Parts: sequence; structure tokens; C-alpha cells
Amino acid sequence: MPQPSRSASLIVGFEAIPLRAASVTGDPLDTIAETILVVLTDAEGRQGVGEADAPAAVVKAFLDMPSEHLWSQGFRDLLIGADPLDRAGLWSRLYEATIYAGRRGLGIHALSAVDIALCDLAGKQAGLPVWKLMGGARRPQLRPYCTIYPGLPAPGRGIPELMSETARQFDAALALGFRAVKMEVLFYDAVTDAELAGLIAEGRRMLGEGITLMLDFGYRWKHWRDAAWLLERIADCDIYFAEATLAHDDLDGHRHLAARAPMRICGAEMAATRFEVREWIERGDVDVVQPDISRAGGLTEMARIADLCELHGVELIPHGWKTGILAHAGLHLQAISAASPFVEYVSPAVYAGTLRRDLVTPEPVVADGLIALPEAAGLGFDLDWTVVNRYRADRQE
Ligand code: MG
Repeated sequence: MPQPSRSASLIVGFEAIPLRAASVTGDPLDTIAETILVVLTDAEGRQGVGEADAPAAVVKAFLDMPSEHLWSQGFRDLLIGADPLDRAGLWSRLYEATIYAGRRGLGIHALSAVDIALCDLAGKQAGLPVWKLMGGARRPQLRPYCTIYPGLPAPGRGIPELMSETARQFDAALALGFRAVKMEVLFYDAVTDAELAGLIAEGRRMLGEGITLMLDFGYRWKHWRDAAWLLERIADCDIYFAEATLAHDDLDGHRHLAARAPMRICGAEMAATRFEVREWIERGDVDVVQPDISRAGGLTEMARIADLCELHGVELIPHGWKTGILAHAGLHLQAISAASPFVEYVSPAVYAGTLRRDLVTPEPVVADGLIALPEAAGLGFDLDWTVVNRYRADRQE
């Protein structure tokens, strides 16, 4: 039974709000043009906000589903009247009550948005930043890396254009204070592997020494030996990690590649829950796992994954490519994780995206590659309701 003193903190409102803005880049991989918000309200009117990086309309349907039976219960029925401080217990209850269609994938993405909102609300109620509520910081400062994404090859947008856009974004990231960047080389059939090795070397030359450089290949290869061929050819480019080399479910291929490659091999950006991440660690034997807070189970589950990674000597560098809600959540995760030397950070000053730029404030300051621990209560952002109402996808004609 809830304690009488907590009655003002119990959840009285649960809403799933899909947002869609026009894509600024027109790129087929622009996943920032939409999001799905979860907004939880307590009896005193305080609100916690989360989001999921998954198709908004489908996640909304999952979040709004009515209770059908023991293993398919509606989120609303489980959350109204609940105490946000019970988030680990709530996580288990929500996981078990939605396991018929949840367990992996979409149901866990929906649960992730709820968990992020629970953390935000509990922090606001306690007047504490979420990292403090979750046990305190394991590091004095936060270290983001900035993802550099020039887009996919398209008619009129060939490799020279993509490389000059990459250069522009490198300059913008370094000018903002980032000291680690990830070059997205999702060039696919537009270049041979030998040509790609040359472009990566050009990327390193653009940055000079002293800047951490990661690479994302966008699932370029089908066989680990082909990936190994290229990675060996860029051994002198001082690459921190190679991401999305092989198919996401090819864990045996990742194990072979990780044993051979001259840099860290990583993956698991689409993984859901600690159970799937454990498979990446034990069978995939990768150096770095990249589950996304807004897809893998929220901050509560990511804290467990961080412990799992610390135990196994694996780095946890979460995927993060959504609005400022996820960007802020990533900072709190890195704060509590001893296994996370970096966190992915999409900067609105580098990559154009209306929701990323406008949905929440403030934007954390990066100085000499670092961000200070957040001090505001909850996740530390303010949601702009004018922006929410402007881009609501469930009220547009
Ligand atoms: Mg990626």
C-alpha cells in the first residue's frame, strides 16, 4: 500500500503523444522527424516526460491498448495510482503484464518511454537530478561524442558532396567543443571497400590527431571476412570503434571479427533488454555494446546493462539519435555508468532536425569535450508545450 505521505506523488495522468515534423534533410534515414512522448502527471500536477525511438503510431497503439488478459494488460491500468519511486518494481510489472506481445522489440520500446518518464517524474518530486536518485555519479564529468551524418548517397548527392558535408559537420562539432566524433560512412554500393578505406583516411586527415574518431558502417557487410579486409586497411587511422559492420543478428560473425579487427568492434544498437545485450556480450564477444535507452528498456534497464558491462569488461556507449529528451537521458546514464567512456550525442547545431532543436531546453554546454553533471531536478529539461501542440500527429488532419 502507498504511504500516506506519498499520496500527492501518485500518478493520476498518463498520455502517449505522437509528434511529427516535416523532415528537414529529406534523408530516408531521418529518424528524428517524429517521436512518441509519454507524459506522466502526479496528483500535484508535476510531469515526467519520456520518449521512444520507434514508429510513433505503433508505439502509441501499444501504449494505449486496453487490458485483454493477464499477459496483455494496458499501460494505463498499471500506471494510474502507481508511485514513480517504485520504478524497478513497476518495470517488472509492466514487462510481465505486456509479455504476450512485448518482451523484445516494440513492447520494450514502449516500456522504455514510460520508464524514462517515471525517472524524470521521481526526480522532480525529490528535487534531485535523476543520476543522484539512481545512486550517484561514477564519474566527475560527462563525455559525449558527436555523430556526423551527411546522409545517404542519392541522385545529385554523390560521394564528393557527402564528404564535403562531413567536413562541414566535423568543423561544426569541433567548434562547439566536441573532442570525439563518429563518421557515418553509410555509402553502400556507391564505393568499393578499397575506396571506402581511402575516404576514412581522408576523414582522419580532416580531423588531425588528438580527436577521437569512431566509424558507423550501417550494416555494410554480409560476411565478417569482408569487414575484416577493410578494417585491417585502416589500422593506422586510430579508430576508436567500428559500428554496424555486420547484420545485427550475426553474433557469431561479430565474434570472429572482434577477434581479428585492430579496433573495438561494437553493435547492439537495436537490442532490447539486458537479456539480449547478454547475448551480444557472451556470444558476440564485442568490445562495446550500444543499446538505446529509449528502446532497450529505459534508464532502469540500462543501469542493469551498465552493471553487466562493468562486470564483463565491455563498454556501454548507448545509441542516441532522437530529441533532446533522449539526449538528456543519455547524460544521466553516463553519469551512473562506470562502463561508459562516451555517450552518443546528436547536436542540434550539427544535424538539422526540428524536434531535436525545439522540443526541449536547455541545451547542455560542451567545453573541451566534456559536459558538467546536470544539476536540475529530474532529467533537467523543460518540454515546450507550444512545440508539442504544433506537431501533434494525433490531432492533425
Ligand atoms: Mg548507428
